[in-house]
Order: sequence, then C-alpha cells, then structure tokens
Amino acid sequence: MAASPKPASFFESSEAGAADRELQRKLENASTRHLDHFAHVKAEYSDYEEERSQSRRIKEHAIAHLDELIVELTGKLKARGCAVFAAATVEEARDYIVNVARNTGSRRVVKGKSMTTEEIGLNPALENAGMEVLETDLGEYIVQLRQEPPSHIITPAIHLSKEDIGALFHEKFGIPYTSEPERLTAEARARLREGFLSADLGVTGVNFAIAETGTLVVIENEGNGRMSSTMPEVFIAVMGIEKVIPRLADVSHFLEVLARTATGQKLTTYTNFIGGPRREGEVDGPREMHVVILDNGRSTMLADPVMREALYCIRCGACLNVCPVYRHIGGHAYRSPYPGPIGSIVSPNLVGSAAGHLPFASTLCGACKDICPVKIDIPRILLHLRWKESARRDLPKWPAPAARARAGARQFARLARHPSAIRLLGKLGAIALKPFARDGWIKRMPPPFSNWTGIRDFPRPRPRRRKIGADED
Ligand code: SF4
Repeated sequence: MAASPKPASFFESSEAGAADRELQRKLENASTRHLDHFAHVKAEYSDYEEERSQSRRIKEHAIAHLDELIVELTGKLKARGCAVFAAATVEEARDYIVNVARNTGSRRVVKGKSMTTEEIGLNPALENAGMEVLETDLGEYIVQLRQEPPSHIITPAIHLSKEDIGALFHEKFGIPYTSEPERLTAEARARLREGFLSADLGVTGVNFAIAETGTLVVIENEGNGRMSSTMPEVFIAVMGIEKVIPRLADVSHFLEVLARTATGQKLTTYTNFIGGPRREGEVDGPREMHVVILDNGRSTMLADPVMREALYCIRCGACLNVCPVYRHIGGHAYRSPYPGPIGSIVSPNLVGSAAGHLPFASTLCGACKDICPVKIDIPRILLHLRWKESARRDLPKWPAPAARARAGARQFARLARHPSAIRLLGKLGAIALKPFARDGWIKRMPPPFSNWTGIRDFPRPRPRRRKIGADED
C-alpha cells in the first residue's frame, strides 16, 4: 500500500481532501472521540481553568526570559554529562545528528514520536547516510510503513481506520487480515521489541526542558519514548528553543492540562524525567547523551510581538480536533509537519514561504482559541500573518476560484461603504430570490450564486430591517 504521490500545491491537496468523504468520516469519528473524552475529564476537574491560566503565565514568563533560561538549561545539561548543540537551522541540526550517528558507529536508530525531527527531515537524512530508522510510536510506525508523513501532531495515523491498518499489515507482513486493534497492536509490538533490542541509537523529542535542574520531560502513552531513550547506548533528544520552562514545580501544571486537552486523559501513561547519561555505577541508561536545541525561525517569531505568542504552544493537538477546516481537508493537505490552526501560524516561519497560504485556511471561528490549554489567540495571529502575506510584493498566484472570491470580497468591501446601496440591493435581492426560498433557506441559485449554494445553504434575505432579538417571523 504505497502512499499516493504528493499533490502539487496546498490548493490541490485541500481540494482533494475536501472531496474525500471517507477521510472526513474518519476525522470526524476520531476528533469527536477526543473531544468527548476531553469534555468528560475537564468537567471532573474543578481547577482546570485555573491550571490553564497558570500554564499560560508560566509560558509568558519563559518566553520573555528565553535567552537566560537557555543558558541556564545548557549549563545544567552539560553538568549532567550531556553534549549540547544549538542548531540555528534544520541543516545544522540534521548534520549534527548524522555525524553523531556516524561517529558512534550506529547502524540502527529507534525514534520516539517527535514533530521537531519531522520538521528537520531527520529520517531521510539518516537513511541517506546508510542507517535503518524505525519509528516506535504505533501511529508513527503505521505511517512510516505507508511511506507518508503524520497527519496530526498527536495522532499521526488519524486519517486511517482499523480496516486500513489491517490491510496494511496483511500486505507488509503477510499475516492473515484482521481489523481487531488488540491483534494489530500485538503484531506491531513484537516487531518493535526486536527493533529496540538491536538499536544503537535512540532519538526522541522533548515536551518540556527544565532550566532549574537540566531535566528533560518526555510524556507518552506507549513506553516507546522510555525505551528509545534508555535502551540504545547513544541517545539524542531534539527540542525547539521554546520547550524550556523555568522550574521543576512548573511541570505539574502542564501535565494537568496537556493530557486532558491532547487525549482526554487525566495523565499520560508515561512521564519520563531524563537526567543525563548513565553514571558511574548505574546499570542502565545510555552511555552517551546529546541534546539538540533548534531555532529554525523561532527567534524571528520571538522578535515579533504578535507572533511570539505562538511559542507558548505545548503541541497538544486540540486545536486541530476542533478546527472545521482541518476536519474537512485532513492534515496532509497542509503540506507541513504542523497542520491545523497551530500549523497555519507556525509553518510560515518554520517551513518558509511555501506555507504562506496557510493563514488563509481558516474560518476564524475561534474554536482553537477557546480550547487551547495556554490560551493562544490563534485568530489574532492568523489575521496578523494574513496582513503580512498580503503586504508582500511577490504575492502568490491564487487559483481561479479563490482569485474570483477575493475579487468579489474586494467589490463587496467597496459597496459596503454605502449603506443606502446595501439596503436597496437587500430589498431587490429579497424580491428576486423569493422564488428560490424554502422554509427560510435558499438551497439552489442560478450562476454565479450557484458557487455558494453548491456547497452551503443561504438564508433567505428579508425585505424589512429587523431589530436584533426580534422574534422570527
Ligand atoms: S495552539 Fe494551543 S491547542 Fe493548538 S496545539 Fe498548541 S497548545 Fe494545543
């Protein structure tokens, strides 16, 4: 089951996603399940809103003092025996990791789930250097078998059903077809276990890096992060600069909100506190440990007073679950390691101008802001990025339907400056459209208005001005 070739642009890939009803059914099922669990655990926890506010305050402080905290973290990590590398770009990060792998004679690499390693394109770099790379998070393992990227930052295989996975395992492993999750998980577990036992190098991401103690926190549900960071002789942790937090006591607030919003759990199954390589007299843990701290455009975000708020993100993925656009087109359509609302604001900085369209892929409904555990005002940042993108001289070429919609919006903006003309048009429209209305809605209109009614209903225009709050007639 090879992955389908990548479409050429965001417009094409989002159009393909929007036409895929089966994809929407899978996303709807999975997102609704996450949100139901979240609503349940949130209702049980009376201090949730206070924890959310406290998490926000900690992030505000951490990002405002990022330079000092990175210096403190680096010093503490080195004192614990770690090698620390500050990578300004994805190339620097990749080269460093590949060199560590080569210098330590590593052939087999096991990876815990890490969006930052997706961002730097680590797997192809290691494979090009002759190494075998095994993703050990179950969802990541599944998408790796399909040779495609993750489509969600927390649930990488959210676009697949258990039947899809059963067919994939049947094809790849030659086992009898089954769609029973327990049997599929057992099959993957047995194969991953072999990978852990033979790996020379482990790589994971980092959820939080505590400056006060030089401790890295990796949270997960499958134990694969713990095994990737402790079983191989060499371990590399990869983190963005924004993952640093000041104190050990801060972690508990994030653990409370992250598990709830990410997966609807009260706490994730494994919370790993990693405090350096194996010390004298210890029998397990890696012999050598490296920490790669990546910038890649984050300093530019820090310098922008509106964008810096995006660095508060703790990658819970909840904004994807509530986003009507993500749920309609799926994660692959964004063509960035970070899809959905958070992807639309960080990708233009992390991936570059190829992601310049993404801030426009939003209805600005605000559901992302409402659910965000650190209260990031995503709609405000989206508007800021739209303004910046529109101010560019080399504007991207919009496809014909989007260009027509933009031209129409510009004309409407001109018209909207004349309230009397709007009123007159409203009256004429109400008369002209009356024959098309049924029960207060218009479901079909002649061209060019059929562009609208082809995908959504239109409320019947009313001839009289109505006061807000007046009863429906
Ligand atoms: S922006 Fe907020 S809701 Fe979205 S992934 Fe980040 S922390 Fe979660």
